[in-house]
Amino acid sequence: MLKGIGASNGYGIGKAVIIEDANLDYSSVRYAGAEAEKSRLQNAVDSFIKETTEMIEALKSSAGEKEAEILEGHLTMLNDPFMLSGINEQIDAGLVAEAAADAVFKMFYDMFTGMEDEMMRQRASDVKDIRDSILELLLGVKKIDISKVEKGSVLIAKDFTPSMTSQIKKENVAAIVTEVGGVTSHSAILARAMGIPAALSVPDALNSIINGDTLIVDGFRGEVFTNPDAKQINEYEQKQKEYIKEKESLNVYFNKPTVTKSGIKKYVYGNIGKAADAETVLQNGGEGIGLFRTEFLFMDRTSAPTEQEQFEAYSTVAKIMGGKEVIIRTLDIGGDKAIDYLSIEKEENPFLGHRAIRYCLDNKPLFKTQLRAILRAAAYGNIKIMLPLVTEIEEIRAAKALITECEAELKSEGIEYKSVPVGIMVETPSAAIISDLLAREAAFFSIGTNDLTGYTMAVDRGNAKVSHLYDAFKPSVLRAIEMTIKNAKAAGIPVGMCGEAAANTKLIPMLLEWGLDEFSVTPSSILQTRKTICEADDK
Ligand code: PEP
Ligand code: MG
Repeated sequence: MLKGIGASNGYGIGKAVIIEDANLDYSSVRYAGAEAEKSRLQNAVDSFIKETTEMIEALKSSAGEKEAEILEGHLTMLNDPFMLSGINEQIDAGLVAEAAADAVFKMFYDMFTGMEDEMMRQRASDVKDIRDSILELLLGVKKIDISKVEKGSVLIAKDFTPSMTSQIKKENVAAIVTEVGGVTSHSAILARAMGIPAALSVPDALNSIINGDTLIVDGFRGEVFTNPDAKQINEYEQKQKEYIKEKESLNVYFNKPTVTKSGIKKYVYGNIGKAADAETVLQNGGEGIGLFRTEFLFMDRTSAPTEQEQFEAYSTVAKIMGGKEVIIRTLDIGGDKAIDYLSIEKEENPFLGHRAIRYCLDNKPLFKTQLRAILRAAAYGNIKIMLPLVTEIEEIRAAKALITECEAELKSEGIEYKSVPVGIMVETPSAAIISDLLAREAAFFSIGTNDLTGYTMAVDRGNAKVSHLYDAFKPSVLRAIEMTIKNAKAAGIPVGMCGEAAANTKLIPMLLEWGLDEFSVTPSSILQTRKTICEADDK
């Protein structure tokens, strides 16, 4: 049995599918003469065109015309006469097809990344995608298409990037196993959002598991059993059935109002990372969005999303949610969330460094683009802005001044927008300690226990040696939470919690006692959280 961290509840039984980056090293390929190399290249290009055309047709029916356009762009790009003739010229000069293609794609990549225009810079990631596909075809090392894995697959990877997870079809994936990441890592958050059982930080998973192995994944305990016997499979199938039954019993809470025994109205919201997740929140009975982690929009690309792209994402969520509240957190990068093209300087202590609101206040054009997009989207629903990692009152004032500046610009440009309440995450000890003062400037608080626990206990969330200290039940963390809720109440502003602890059934009664108004949790935990709130003894 392999043991990692249980990061997304449930039991998954299925066949192992190892997802490894294809090895694109072509240094041992020998030159077979210009004609032979050109013919290998042409074969790879023909296969690429055939596969891409098939994918375009499939995407048109499954996801829509717009998604298919990106792949159509790949075909157009490869058909550029300069691209293919350039590669053939390099072959004539004595390079193997792989090296020739790599050199020409690199030239196009550098050209696109150096361009002023955002849209053109985006093309660089398309060039990289095409390059990887052509090299895979030439080398015969096609990597696995996650969207095409068979029903009952258990995906094993070092880690899952957001672009990898976006390809997952949850009906086909029985479980996820990774070698890195903890309960609050983004792989874990995404697995829970999709309701897929996950065991993370499983040491040496890629070496210990072979493609096609039968696996049982216990997402509660983080255990992975390889090639179990019939008795064990039976036992886990039974557990799986009981768990599914228990989950179904929660369905009665779908239409129930979130009201405590003593009759106080509370709210259960969902946390999301992309616009489409808003649907999942509604499907799970969520009453709003308590945390939209906008950094996901900035990941897995070569330049920042434009104001228009961000506006589309934020307004889509606002429209999906109707008049329900949508709390959009401004860009929270740095720390463990690196974004290459933002060229954040390497720091000795990134978690204590130039991240989140600190980075945004020092990179005004980037921050203002996001703020303008949010203000414009606010015209389409019930949006609020939330600032991450606040430690002092000046940060709120500075952000609010920028928001006022954006409003003035939009007004003078005649662009539709709406003013919105500006609240903060309380996720640093500093913010909790001065929450009485911050409540004068913030329209609401949302307690981020993931970071608050780490910073209060001075413990790195990812360091196994000190993981016993990473616990929201430690007295110092509980005091910080209590103090924050009480100061919000005293100031008359709403207070929620969007860290993972908001779904902790043992903590919820305490949070109710202190007066927490809103619980924002991963969508698959919404009904359980509502049940716990409704059943807690708060009389
Ligand atoms: C938190 O810190 O509790 C939080 C919700 O933010 P994130 O997990 O995105 O850092
Ligand atoms: Mg945080």
